[in-house]
This record gives sequence, C-alpha cells and structure tokens, in this order.
Amino acid sequence: MGQEQQRYIKCDACGVSILEQCAIEESGQFFCGDCVVRATKKEVVIAEKISKEKRDKEYEIERNKTILKQKKRGVILFVATLVVLGITQLIAIYNQPEPLVTTKVDLETDTALANAMIISGINGYYSVHEKLPAQLKVLAPQYISDKLFQVSKRFHYQRLNDDSYELKIIQQREESTLNRSGLPDENK
Ligand SMILES: [Zn+2]
Repeated sequence: MGQEQQRYIKCDACGVSILEQCAIEESGQFFCGDCVVRATKKEVVIAEKISKEKRDKEYEIERNKTILKQKKRGVILFVATLVVLGITQLIAIYNQPEPLVTTKVDLETDTALANAMIISGINGYYSVHEKLPAQLKVLAPQYISDKLFQVSKRFHYQRLNDDSYELKIIQQREESTLNRSGLPDENK
C-alpha cells in the first residue's frame, strides 16, 4: 500500500529520478533538491555579481566625480597660474625702462644737431625773457644742458639787435678739421 504511493518523477533540470514527495515544484516544473540548491547558489552568485557590479558602478561614478573635481581644480590652478604669470609679466613690462629705441646722440660729433639745439635754447630764452641772450653761457643750464654749453664754445654767437643774432661754428672737431679750401684736411 505504501509502495504504491512512492511515485518517482524525473527532475526537470538534471533528469535524475526522485521521489515525487521530495521534488520541489517551481513555476510548474519539478526539481531535485540538488538542482534547487544549485539554482539558489546560482541566484546568490548572480545577486552578488549584480550587487558587485552596482557597487563598482557607484564607485566608478564617485571616482569620475572626484577626477572631474580634480580636473576642475587643476584647470582653476592652471588658469590662476597663467593669470599670476600674466600679471608678473605686466609688472615686469611696466617696470622696464623705456623701450630702448636709442638714437645715440653725440653732440661732440653732431655739429648740426648741436647747432639746432643751441637755436632751440635761444628760442626758449627769447620766449621767456622777450630778448635774445647776450651770451650763450646764460642759456645753461636752463635752456641748454651743461654738455651742450661745452659744445657751444665751438660756436660763435653774436646778438645783432633785439630780434636777430648770428650763430656760426668756429671750431670743428679735430677729425673733421677743414683746410683752407673748405675740404677735409687729408694731411691731418
Ligand atoms: Zn535535478
């Protein structure tokens, strides 16, 4: 009697014969205990895998956020460095002496320039005093520099009247000494 009730069925997963009463039903299918344990383990593994993937994803997101923050900080730092460098450059530029577009002026050799500057000094004196200077030396140092005054000694200045004067060069530098014919003295 008892024997009749001991019915065997096959596990739908592995095909092993199992007692019907021992089979575990799941969604209309019957499984042996081993398969159920295996399936459960598999589910657990899958669940762990999913959980790990989720954690990894979250970690990745956090990591990316951190990297982005660091990048932003890096960019800010970089820009700040550029700004500081720029300001430093600007300060350096402003502190630099005037750009050296120097025209080297040597009044000793440039007689024409010395002549023009003496005339300018005379004009300056005239505009203030409303008369011409009696001598060139009264122009220094206000209207002509001391250096130019030294050079002016090679000029002959004569006030002719209140409004006119004569300014002549009386002494050339040695290098350009003129001979009597007015040409450079080649024997010198
Ligand atoms: Zn099975």
